[in-house]
Amino acid sequence: MNPTNPLLLLIEDDPQFQMLLSTTLESQDYQVLSHATGLEGLIAARNRQPNLLILDLGLPDIDGQEVIRQLRKWSEVPIIVLSARNQESEITQALDNGADDYLTKPFSTAVLMSRIKALLRRVARLPSGALEVFQAGELKIELTRRRVFVGEQEVSLTPIEFNLLCVLVRHAGFVVTHRQLLEKVWGPSYIEHSHYLRIYMGQLRHKLEVNPARPRYLLTEAGVGYRLYEGEN
Ligand code: CA
Repeated sequence: MNPTNPLLLLIEDDPQFQMLLSTTLESQDYQVLSHATGLEGLIAARNRQPNLLILDLGLPDIDGQEVIRQLRKWSEVPIIVLSARNQESEITQALDNGADDYLTKPFSTAVLMSRIKALLRRVARLPSGALEVFQAGELKIELTRRRVFVGEQEVSLTPIEFNLLCVLVRHAGFVVTHRQLLEKVWGPSYIEHSHYLRIYMGQLRHKLEVNPARPRYLLTEAGVGYRLYEGEN
């Protein structure tokens, strides 16, 4: 294995799944370090400085949420959490604690691979503060000039609609939770006002989507948040 290949830390207590996942990842030329407990995982994260962490939330010793909280005190390593199905509140909490993305079991390894690639790519292009123009499909957003186009057509947005879109652009391709959006666009005292989000997201979809009922750009992550389509990569 080439020592310059990205090192992925996998924290997963199910031995069969751990084996399957690490074999798959190694076949894609990643170096993989596997641990079955949160504590061992945290120690490995500190000692080996992985490029990315894949974290199962249900662990035998400390909770996956606690692993994220501990890690985020000193590390910016990208984190993908793995969770059982129908655990939206767990996923939301993990994202609010600082995880970057999530997959619910069972998932396709193709999707996992594309999420890993996207996260590593995002880290590689940091700092992203300099992003001036975002483009995906027909959608084009000029961030500094605050102008939005669908194809050739300029679309007029209200300041709140634009700010909401900007938060999604900064996390393009990744899920942003309801809480994170409410906090960033309206402020910390609005985190319970999720109806604001529904209303403004509806308005944005009417302005930006060909078919607002089947959005192509502003994607819903049921029970968790929203994800802006970042184009084919
Ligand atoms: Ca588990």
